[in-house]
Amino acid sequence: MAYVHNFSAGPCVLPQAVFEEASQALLNFDNLGLSIIEISHRSPSFVAVMEEARSLVKELLEVPDGYTVLFLQGGASMGFLTVAYNMIRNQKKAAYVNTGAWAKKAAKEFSFVGELDIIASSEDKNYSYIPKNIVAGSDYDFLHITSNNTISGTQYKDFPTSDTPLVCDMSSDIFSRKINVADFDIIYAGAQKNMGPAGTAVYIVKESILGNSSIPIPTMLDLNTHYSKDSMFNTPPVFAIYASMLNLRWLKKNGGVGHIQNVNEKKATLLYNEIDNNPLFEGTTAIEDRSTMNATFLLKEAALTDTFNKMWQEANISGIKGHRSVGGYRASMYNALPIESVMELVNVMKELTEKHG
Ligand SMILES: *Cc1c(COP(=O)(O)O)cnc(C)c1O
Repeated sequence: MAYVHNFSAGPCVLPQAVFEEASQALLNFDNLGLSIIEISHRSPSFVAVMEEARSLVKELLEVPDGYTVLFLQGGASMGFLTVAYNMIRNQKKAAYVNTGAWAKKAAKEFSFVGELDIIASSEDKNYSYIPKNIVAGSDYDFLHITSNNTISGTQYKDFPTSDTPLVCDMSSDIFSRKINVADFDIIYAGAQKNMGPAGTAVYIVKESILGNSSIPIPTMLDLNTHYSKDSMFNTPPVFAIYASMLNLRWLKKNGGVGHIQNVNEKKATLLYNEIDNNPLFEGTTAIEDRSTMNATFLLKEAALTDTFNKMWQEANISGIKGHRSVGGYRASMYNALPIESVMELVNVMKELTEKHG
């Protein structure tokens, strides 16, 4: 089959080598003569996978001492509630920034446990920008942000700085660029945007926050439950963690986060330059807040929609239809998307203009 350029927003492209190794493990894992999905998660072979996955996260993101890494279930959506339960303190009040559909969903979950305050929002302009100069006062238990807005295509280039503990949903740009983990009390991310298959979410948690909630936490939502059992309190999603681990190994082998950040910036620049210079297209977000992961854009001449759609489909491009709330197109350029795929999309855009512009 011809190579398909996969611009899907999530679940998304992963390296071919990861698929190959992961499929082998479904048949014969670690030379046990058994599949990875039929052995005990307490077996030495799987415990080694869990430990390597956790340590690769620490290594790749230069996680400082005093932080733990957990692989849990429930996706980022369960994370919305998990962070609310684990970060609520005596003020029972938290500040959220509403930069998109996911940020709004995260905020809603806090209102199940405490008083929610949306201190900044870009909803007024269909989430096309990141609010600046965000300050959460000391009367909040924490400040919650969403580093990359997968649907609208905006991304924080600088994170808010304040003494209020910072909690961040990094689902769609974790491992895409260097971050300073020490700035955050909790980072969490669903796997399927830039780390692995759906089914697990990674949490990077400052250990000193554990056990300090002002309300009782149901067992499975308590990060301390999972911390005290090395992320093995109950059966973890073994295959999703294994494939994520393989992808993190791939990232390490290919130069790590610093290197992939350069590649990601090159890919994004290539596409945004075309969006800006091609008279048939326009971007939908504020230039300074553009996401390197998800580029959203419109075709200015509606009459050319069918022609363009046919052209990119014929070029084996997949997954660039925009989210229904934004319309137009969205090209997601996660770590495993080769720059050649972006070049192909740019070529199709150029060709459209040459033929029909
Ligand atoms: C996809 C996404 C989510 C939801 O993730 P699930 O793992 O499906 O719950 C949350 N936040 C962001 C930023 C996302 O892109």
